[in-house]
Order: sequence, then C-alpha cells, then structure tokens
Amino acid sequence: MTESLVRVQAAAEQWNAQELLAWAAREFGDKAALASSLGAEDVVLIDMVSRIGASFAIFTLDTDFLFPETYELISSIEERYGISIERVHPQLNPEFQAREFGEELWKRQPDRCCQMRKVEPLTQRLKASSAWITGIRREQSPTRANARKLEWDAKFGLVKLNPIADWTEAQVWEYIRLHRVPYNPLHDRGYPSIGCTHCTRAVLPGEDPRAGRWSGFSKTECGLHVVETEAGPKLVPAHSAGAGER
Ligand code: SF4
Repeated sequence: MTESLVRVQAAAEQWNAQELLAWAAREFGDKAALASSLGAEDVVLIDMVSRIGASFAIFTLDTDFLFPETYELISSIEERYGISIERVHPQLNPEFQAREFGEELWKRQPDRCCQMRKVEPLTQRLKASSAWITGIRREQSPTRANARKLEWDAKFGLVKLNPIADWTEAQVWEYIRLHRVPYNPLHDRGYPSIGCTHCTRAVLPGEDPRAGRWSGFSKTECGLHVVETEAGPKLVPAHSAGAGER
C-alpha cells in the first residue's frame, strides 16, 4: 500500500479532477470526506462528486459565525443534489467562548479563535476518515503553490486530495456557469474568499483576493492546511512550506 500510494501520487499529477475523485471513490469510498467551506472551488467539487456518484461524506466547519448567504447556500446545495452536508461545530458555542475567553476573541487573538472554532473541530472530524478532499488551488497563494493533487497530510495523519490544485480561477467559474452550480452570491459582491462574518470583508479593486480575510492582521491563514515538513509514513509531504486554508 505504501509503495503503491507513492506511485499513485506521481501518476495523479496527470489525472484530471474527475479521474482523481473516481480513484478516491474506489480506494476510500465513504472513508473519504470532502471538506467544504462552500466557496467557489468547493461547489465545483460537490457537483463533480455528485456526477460520479461517489459516496464521500461532505462536511463543513460551521464556526457559528458564517454569513447568512453561506447558510442559505448549504440548504440550496443539499436540495439541488439531494445530499446532507454535515455541520461540524466547535466544542464551545459563541456565548461560552465569550465567557471563557472574553468578548470578540477574533479581534484580539484570531489564531486562538481559529484553533478552537476550526482546527480542533477539523482534527476531531478527520479521525473518522482515511482521506480528505479539499478545493485548494496552487495559484491561490504562495503557500499553496506546491500543493500536490495527492499528498500525505502529516498534520492530521491521512491522505489529502486536491483535485483542482492545477485549476485557474477562470476554470472554476467556467465550470460553475457551464453546469449552473449554485454558488455564494457574496462572490458577486466583492468577496472572492468567504469565511466568518467577523473576519471577512469585501476586497477593493486591485487588492489581493485574500486581502479581505483577517484584514488588519498579519494572519492570512487559519491553520487548516498547515503542512508538517516531516515526511509522512505513506507519501512525501504535502507542500515544502507554508499553510493554506479555505
Ligand atoms: S475566522 Fe475569525 S471568527 Fe472565524 S474562527 Fe477564525 S478568528 Fe474566529
């Protein structure tokens, strides 16, 4: 298995997104999970998964701070594809977090807030899976530039699949329009990257697409895709450096 996966890792770079998803369906079945923030890339993957009839679990990290448009999109996607998207919540609800750590933690310690509301719930959720699927693309940021289509995720200890790692933003939107995939209307209002309400703003013309995330902080990533540099037991490490997140 170890050697075959390493061989697959090399071969997977030549596969298109559907081929990689089909391989994952055969290899992992419902032990593979699609982690979806309902961004443009994620709705593309949900559509693809639906078309190939894969039985992957689909979940979203519901921080309790998502935009109303995002919650509405979850419902629209569920209705359109006849699926159920698992909402993975943090251990602390917003009120308890405020009591324990003070009001508006995201304004003072966004890393701590993301750790509790995103990274820890993801860590727990991924324990039930053998592989996870994400919509990260190499051109999204320098920290994602070295993403492989198939990686060993040493941080969470499972295989990670990035089926559209080599796609451009134009390809994403071409797919959405061609297949009439439901998407978050905030994308049409200047929000290329959408996370929690407290930490996402629209970007201005000419700004980096991720400038609207944690604006005013040096923070650019929430830690979901932080890559351990140590080689994993089955595959070479994911990226040579850096982190990425939805
Ligand atoms: S994006 Fe902001 S509100 Fe959401 S978990 Fe991270 S710090 Fe907290």
